[in-house]
Amino acid sequence: MNASPADQRALLDVADLDRRVRQAEASRRNPPQAARITELSALRAAQSHELSLLAGARDDVRVELTRLESDVAVAEARRDRDAARLATSSSAKDAQALEHELASLKRRLNDLEDAELDVMERLEQAESGIAAQETLVAETTSEGMRLTAEAKAIVTGATDELEQIARDRAAVVGALPAALVAHYDKIAQRSAGAALFTRGTCEGCRMVLSGTDLQVIRNAAEDLVVTCPECGCILVRTEESGL
Ligand SMILES: [Zn+2]
Repeated sequence: MNASPADQRALLDVADLDRRVRQAEASRRNPPQAARITELSALRAAQSHELSLLAGARDDVRVELTRLESDVAVAEARRDRDAARLATSSSAKDAQALEHELASLKRRLNDLEDAELDVMERLEQAESGIAAQETLVAETTSEGMRLTAEAKAIVTGATDELEQIARDRAAVVGALPAALVAHYDKIAQRSAGAALFTRGTCEGCRMVLSGTDLQVIRNAAEDLVVTCPECGCILVRTEESGL
């Protein structure tokens, strides 16, 4: 395959555009935020599950409090009724029984009030645990939304870039001989396609050529398309090649 040195140099632009295509495709397929987004999604599910457990426990405490409040109401009603009956009682025996019951109701109300205070304290703790957990969920959600928006922007940017690169590539390739482009495309399927040859090194695979390989390239006519014996990419010789 023969091509003018200028056309060979143009292949470096094509190879550079192809490299950018691969990068843009990788960004579009898997934006850098993707791993963290997956992580956050799992974290949010775990945090939400924990939140529902906390809410369930809080609801149990609320039920306990309601039950205690109702017990207090029943005991208070009974105390008031007994007190009213005591005030109007004319029987000493009845009065004694009522006083006995009133004392017992007083103890019961004290116990219930102590229990109420304890439950209210637990309810307060449960509520603050829920508030803290809600903050965690909100933080995870907000980080997830921010990263998702960033990832979407990257995907959109990469898509736009791919369209631009495709236009640029078509322009460069359109000015080159079709046979040279076909030769390059075939080689590009399994290597960098084309790379600069500088100071005995293939910029495609970073191998330093020596001995016979270097001699062959040195002796090759400048319009002969040569390839790297290591990676197979087209070696583009320029003034910087230092041959
Ligand atoms: Zn190489």
